[in-house]
Amino acid sequence: MKILIFLTLFIITAISVVFILQNNKSPYGAPPYSEEDFRETPIYPRGIEKFGDLRNWKRPDGPMRVGLQVGHLKNSELPDELENLRGNSGASNRGVAEWEVTMEIALITQKLLEEEGYVVDILPATVPVAYVADAFVALHADGSTSSQTEGFKVAAPRRDYTGKSSELATLLESQYKSQVGFPIDLNITRNMTGYYAFSWWRYDHSIHPMTPAVILETGFLTNPTEARLLINNPELPALAIVDGVTEFLNLQSK
Ligand SMILES: [Zn+2]
Repeated sequence: MKILIFLTLFIITAISVVFILQNNKSPYGAPPYSEEDFRETPIYPRGIEKFGDLRNWKRPDGPMRVGLQVGHLKNSELPDELENLRGNSGASNRGVAEWEVTMEIALITQKLLEEEGYVVDILPATVPVAYVADAFVALHADGSTSSQTEGFKVAAPRRDYTGKSSELATLLESQYKSQVGFPIDLNITRNMTGYYAFSWWRYDHSIHPMTPAVILETGFLTNPTEARLLINNPELPALAIVDGVTEFLNLQSK
C-alpha cells in the first residue's frame, strides 16, 4: 500500500515537472522561437543561392540607408511564416508597451540621422522581404520577473555574411554604455543572435544577407530606474544609437 502511494506521488511529481518545463516560456526578451529553431540545421533550408552571387554583390546606389525596427510594432500583422510571433507583444511598464518606448527612441534617431543625410526606414515587426540597408538596428526593451535586473545588450546575427555586424555591435555598445550609462547585461540569448528578422535562411521577411545588423535591448522596462530614463529621456539612447551608427557608416564609406 505504501509503495502504491509513493508511486502515485512520484508519477504526479514527474508529470508536473515536465508540464512546468514545457510551459516555462519567458514572456520577455527577443521574440521566442519554437524548439526546431534551436537546431543547427534549419528545417526549411533555403540556400544562400536564392540571393544570387553575393561575391559580386554591390549595395544599391544612393544615400546610405538605415533600418530601425521597432520590435513588436504591429505584431498582429506578421505574415503566416511568422504567425507564432503574432501574440508576442514584449515587455511593458505600467501600461506603457515596449514598442511605444522604442518608437519614441526610433523617431528621434530617425530625425537626427536624416539631418545627416541618411535615409531612415522605421520598420514594424514585419521586415520587408530581403530588406537591404547599410545598417539595420532592431530596437527592443527587456523585461524580467525581478525589478533588480538591469542593463542593455547588443548582439549581431549568428550567421553574418557581411562580416561587419560585430563591428556595428561593438560601436553601438560602446556609445550606449558611455552615453546612457546602463551596465552591460552579459546574457545575450540565442533568441538575439538568431533573431527572426536576421534569419534570411528561414524567413522571406528578413534582412538580405548583405545587410549589417544588430539587435539592441535598450534596457529593462521592469527596472524602475532604467524604465524612467527610457520613457522620460528617449533622446539619450537615441543620441547613442545615432553616434554608434554614424561611426559605423563612416568607416564603410572610407
Ligand atoms: Zn522585445
